[in-house]
Amino acid sequence: MTAAYDTDNIFAKILRGEIPSHRVYEDDAVVAFMDVMPQGPGHTLVVPKAPSRNLLDANPSTFGPLFTVVQKVALAVKKALNADGVTVLQFNEPASGQTVYHLHVHVIPRFDGIPLKPHTGAMEKPEVLTENAGKIRAALGS
Ligand code: AMP
Repeated sequence: MTAAYDTDNIFAKILRGEIPSHRVYEDDAVVAFMDVMPQGPGHTLVVPKAPSRNLLDANPSTFGPLFTVVQKVALAVKKALNADGVTVLQFNEPASGQTVYHLHVHVIPRFDGIPLKPHTGAMEKPEVLTENAGKIRAALGS
C-alpha cells in the first residue's frame, strides 16, 4: 500500500513559506521554483498547491492548471536560457526515482549534445539559482 501524504514534506514547507525557494511563478493553484540540484542550468520545478504524493493519488482536476503552467514555464526556460529544447520529467514513488513526496513536474532546458546531469546530484550555488530565476521571471513577464 502507498504511504499517506506527509504535510511536512519539503515542498509543502516551501508552499507554506516555511523554507526559502527561488520562486519564478505563482498563481492560485500552482507555484514554480528553481531545483536546488539542477540536472542542467534553469532546471525548474512546477508544483501544484493541492496536496498529493504524486500523479497516482492526485485529483484529476489538478492536472489542467498544473500542465498549463508546465507549458508556460517550458516556453520561459527555453527563452531565458536560450535552450534548444526542454525535457519534462515526473516521478512516482521510490522505484521510479521520486525523492520528494508532493506532486511536481521537472522542466529542464536542453542544449544540443549536452547530456542531463544526474538526478539529485550536486547542489547549485545560490547566486547561480538567483541569476537563472531572474532570467526565467523576466521571460515569464513577471
Ligand atoms: P523527485 O526525485 O522527482 O522527487 O525530485 C525532487 C527534486 O527536488 C530533486 O530534483 C531535488 O534536487 C529537488 N529538491 C530537493 N529539495 C529541494 C529544495 N529545498 N528546493 C528546491 N528543490 C529541491
